[in-house]
Amino acid sequence: MDERLIKRLMTIISCSVCGERYEGENVRVLGRYTDLWFLSVYCTNCHSQSLVAAVLKDGKHPELVTDLTEEEYTKFREMAVVGADDVLDLHDFLKDFDGDFSRVFSEEAG
Ligand SMILES: [Zn+2]
Repeated sequence: MDERLIKRLMTIISCSVCGERYEGENVRVLGRYTDLWFLSVYCTNCHSQSLVAAVLKDGKHPELVTDLTEEEYTKFREMAVVGADDVLDLHDFLKDFDGDFSRVFSEEAG
C-alpha cells in the first residue's frame, strides 16, 4: 500500500462539508499504524480542513474511520454553514453584552 493509492482513494471521497471531491494533491498522509492511515485533507472548494482515518488492507475494500456516527455525519452535512448574518447577530449581541452569562441563561430559560 503506497501513498499514491491513498491519494487515489481520497479522490473518490467527497468533502463532508460541501460535497466536492478531494484532489490527490490536497491529501497529506500524517502517519500510519499498521493498516490504519491518518490523512489530512483540504477542500479547495470550501477551504475546510479535515482529518480522516482510513483502514486500508491489501485486496480489501477500504474503510473510513471517523468519530462521527452516520446520523451525525448526515446532520452536519445538511446543516447550514455559518453565514454573515450569524456573525452580525453575534456582533450585535456582544456589543451590548456586559459579561453576565448567568443573566443571559436565566433569561433564555424564561
Ligand atoms: Zn468542501
